[in-house]
Amino acid sequence: MVARKFFVGGNFKMNGSLTEIETIIERINEAKFDGSTEIVVAPPALYLLKIQEELKAPSQVAAQNSFTEKSGAFTGEISPSQLKDANVHWVILGHSERRSLFGDTDKLVADKVKAAIENGLAVIACVGESLEQREAGETQEIVERQLETIAKEISESEWKDVVIAYEPVWAIGTGKVATKEQAQEVHDQIRKWLAKRVTQSVADQTRIIYGGSVNGKNCADLANAPDIDGFLVGGASLKPEFIDICNSHK
Ligand code: PEP
Repeated sequence: MVARKFFVGGNFKMNGSLTEIETIIERINEAKFDGSTEIVVAPPALYLLKIQEELKAPSQVAAQNSFTEKSGAFTGEISPSQLKDANVHWVILGHSERRSLFGDTDKLVADKVKAAIENGLAVIACVGESLEQREAGETQEIVERQLETIAKEISESEWKDVVIAYEPVWAIGTGKVATKEQAQEVHDQIRKWLAKRVTQSVADQTRIIYGGSVNGKNCADLANAPDIDGFLVGGASLKPEFIDICNSHK
């Protein structure tokens, strides 16, 4: 059995003033962690450098997005090489809000993943189905299509720089968390897909984390599932219960 280090990401989205975010970071800095979980927080881009200075190791910061190009006339974008230059090691790509509100297609997400990895970043790559797709029985097809587009762009060895976040769209920000069984089923299928499409060793080593209305109350049960290797947390990452979520792995 390969041990996969538990991974918890906090996605602050477009929330918080500098003072509010500093309070959250102070709470994380003061919390007790036993070292068994990798913790990454993603504040709005504007605050990345300041928060990076203040956040105590081994917790790390992540960007919430990055573009495909190195530099140029791309107003409003941040390049992976700029993140690398700023020592920001992680980036969240393909979040459902980027896909639904800002036109990030499967191909654009895959190109962003490729560019991020080529520039030495590690990626939290988000995939997941809508409620309509789940009800139509298309969950696996959708998730595999999103992953296949990424698999076409990266080599076997580059999967070590990817954490897959399974985030059913119907569970994000809705308070409707997937059951442990629902999440485990998709995570298991993703791992089987990785074994078939990439290699068994990539399947064994890649962390597959769950996101969608995770909170301090439901995290312990979900964390028990064999193929849930952590969480991507939105709303609850701004609250004290984020510490409990980081400590939910036993
Ligand atoms: C997210 O934004 O990735 C997320 C999972 O949000 P929430 O935890 O609020 O559902």
